[in-house]
Amino acid sequence: MDKISVIIPCYNEEDAIPLFYEEITKVMSKMINTKFELLFINDGSIDNSLKEIKQLSKKDKNVKYISFSRNFGKEAAMMAGLEYATGDYVTIMDVDLQDPPEKLEEMYKIIKNDKDIDCVGLKTDSHDDYGFIRKFFTNCFYKIISKMSKTEMVPGARDFRLMTRQMVNAIISLREYNRYSKGLFSFVGFNTKWLTYKIPERKVGKTTWSFFKLFAYALDGILAFTTVPLTISAFIGIIFCLISIIAIIIIIIKTLIFGDPVDGWPSLVCIMFFLSGIQLFCTGISGTYLSKTYTEVKHRPIYIIKDTNFKSK
Ligand code: UDP
Ligand code: MG
Repeated sequence: MDKISVIIPCYNEEDAIPLFYEEITKVMSKMINTKFELLFINDGSIDNSLKEIKQLSKKDKNVKYISFSRNFGKEAAMMAGLEYATGDYVTIMDVDLQDPPEKLEEMYKIIKNDKDIDCVGLKTDSHDDYGFIRKFFTNCFYKIISKMSKTEMVPGARDFRLMTRQMVNAIISLREYNRYSKGLFSFVGFNTKWLTYKIPERKVGKTTWSFFKLFAYALDGILAFTTVPLTISAFIGIIFCLISIIAIIIIIIKTLIFGDPVDGWPSLVCIMFFLSGIQLFCTGISGTYLSKTYTEVKHRPIYIIKDTNFKSK
């Protein structure tokens, strides 16, 4: 009998946890030919999330939990879940029911019946709930990253996916600290089948992803999966050198022909500002990569566990 591990990252979700459990129980009772393991990851919640999870684990022995010592972020929570999951198939679901658990049955059927498929993922093709600005930046992000990176990022892809044990092992072998899962899932390869759906509204609570958090996350994705910005900054440097050589030649010729009246001071200031701007921009790009390298070489743990009901590991 196959076992499916369901990883559920939770951050301040005391209201959502019981609702989620109710929904997933309905799904589990329909899928009678599979065993389940519900793996709640409490990502340093400061509300009663851990209490709720512990209560569930008391009445249902399939409920496992890992509780972090502080908030490490959803990426770290997913990594912990993937490392501890024991199932033959592993899925990741948001606790707010935006990843509808009832899809699991269909996903399992697909992955089970077609041996060529290693992963069934969900994606959305409409972002009706996004405002104009967020929609614009989301589109820009996917356009930029698809041009710059060899790793394919599927627009609208969710973290909600059902993966085989083989694929999960491949993902946990990637030990990097700056994790960008959408890229990692695609980096490891394997065959993913995409199902399209419309993301439902969050059932309770509110999202912790502000615009700036999302913007930083998008930058993380770009930094983690391409070094093209470094090449671009070097290229800009070369272009500006060429332009300045041409300008010098023109000025020399002009001076020889028309003499040397002192003018052009305002334009000089503009050029200086422009060039220092470009220089700072390029140094910034290099610095950002350097800072990522710095956090990477420290080899700090991706998460720290304070409490769990896993017996050993
Ligand atoms: N989450 C988490 N750690 C965080 C932020 C979020 O584990 O630091 C969890 C959260 O509890 C939820 C999932 O990640 O289960 C998705 O979060 P959210 O609904 O806020 O994101 P959105 O759906 O708006 O992208
Ligand atoms: Mg959500």
